[in-house]
Amino acid sequence: MKYDVIIIGAGPGGIFAAYELMQKKPEMKVAVFEAGHALHKRRCPIDGEKIKTCIGCKSCSIMSGFGGAGAFSDGKYNITNDFGGTLYEYIGKKQALELMHYVDDINMKFGGEGTKLYSTAGTRFKTVCIQHDLHLLDASVRHLGTDINYVVLENIYAYLQDKVQFFFDTPVESVQVLEGGYEISTKDGTYECEKCVISVGRSGSKWMEQVCKELEIPTESSRVDIGVRVELPATVFAHLTDELYESKIVYRTKQYGDKVRTFCMNPKGAVVNENTNGIITVNGHSYEDPAKQTENTNFALLVAKHFSEPFKDSNGYGESIARLSNMLGGGVIVQRFGDLIRGHRSTPKRIEEAFVTPTLNATPGDLSLVLPKRILDGIIEMIYALDKVAPGTANDDTLLYGVEVKFYNMEVEVNDKLESRYPGLYIIGDGSGITHSLSHASASGVHVARDIVK
Ligand SMILES: Cc1cc2nc3c(=O)[nH]c(=O)nc-3n(C[C@H](O)[C@H](O)[C@H](O)COP(=O)(O)OP(=O)(O)OC[C@H]3O[C@@H](n4cnc5c(N)ncnc54)[C@H](O)[C@@H]3O)c2cc1C
Repeated sequence: MKYDVIIIGAGPGGIFAAYELMQKKPEMKVAVFEAGHALHKRRCPIDGEKIKTCIGCKSCSIMSGFGGAGAFSDGKYNITNDFGGTLYEYIGKKQALELMHYVDDINMKFGGEGTKLYSTAGTRFKTVCIQHDLHLLDASVRHLGTDINYVVLENIYAYLQDKVQFFFDTPVESVQVLEGGYEISTKDGTYECEKCVISVGRSGSKWMEQVCKELEIPTESSRVDIGVRVELPATVFAHLTDELYESKIVYRTKQYGDKVRTFCMNPKGAVVNENTNGIITVNGHSYEDPAKQTENTNFALLVAKHFSEPFKDSNGYGESIARLSNMLGGGVIVQRFGDLIRGHRSTPKRIEEAFVTPTLNATPGDLSLVLPKRILDGIIEMIYALDKVAPGTANDDTLLYGVEVKFYNMEVEVNDKLESRYPGLYIIGDGSGITHSLSHASASGVHVARDIVK
């Protein structure tokens, strides 16, 4: 079977590449291969009753399938070059922002109309933050919410399904370079194409590494972010989240000079498990629909770690820490801030008696047995700093879930077209190590599609 373009991975990067190809050249023969399920078949078995924690499905419905890792996410599209990836380093700041706005327009067209676009521009919180040595980053944030995000994906799929050939539950095993094209192998057979777009995200990181090794595509080891997810009563952050929805705040610790940052803020949201290559970490999301909202807000506090010589395996380091929490807690560990400060393990009784009701069923435990001292000290210092702009953050009953790890793919060497050293072999989205967010990954898909039709 021969195609003009084969896209590997149906996350935001792959979807927007397919969408843009069909917009610009509908006669093109395009196939999308996806390791996970079609959207309507994606269902995480955790129901909170019969199945309470991750059972390690062969294909994790949270991370894989049509919509990629973003399908059940909070659908926060951050339109900014300040975070979410370094796409602008390849294509320029103006172009990157234009593409992110273009993606936003498409999301609006496919069901996102009416959702709110928040902005930090001109906010008084910038001043309040700086007065306490906290730095609020600039961004516009479109919050689709988990529910509307799903509707948008459903609509985009309905639009694409007759135009593009989708192969679900079909992981691509290998990519071969042919003369004038590429051949991909799957369990069901091989397929050829003239151009190939690889957009395999975080869940495809190990596979991506293997492909780069086989095809001798240079890569650079990247960073890993390690920390906790904080959960507290929504009222504590309401003055910030009502106006900004998500505030990305960075703090430099006095003790070590490390940067700690807030990440993925979910007002009235829920804390969730995330399964990356069998390792259970923590994440969060929230719904636009008031009926599905909770009384809590959650966000991550993360510290970035970079390694150079002789140890380069940043992700391996993050995985080992996450494994330690999995070993001690059988999954994610939860601890009250007050217990952590006093050197106590949280017990089921202490969690039950707390004023904050956890939204995730995690194992009460002691995060100081899991997180390296330097990281934990930085997180504690940041919690006290945040307490000055959002009093109540450092309350005893504030819950900390661990560990939250943001794995970054190694950075793959590509040019300004996001093309590897092989002409027509593009590597985009989170799988390239260049993007780490919905908006940047989607924008990278549009960018390569435009280059292909050129
Ligand atoms: C719970 C959660 C919440 C999040 N919330 C947000 C948010 O609010 N805002 C934000 O900006 N970002 C968020 N993110 C991150 C965001 O989802 C990712 O940055 C984004 O999805 C990256 O898009 P992508 O297309 O590069 O990769 P992905 O979305 O990871 O998609 C890659 C796809 O490739 C498939 N694949 C992998 N290997 C193969 C293979 N060998 N063959 C075929 N297919 C393969 C995978 O199954 C997957 O479906 C969240 C992530 C999670 C897990």
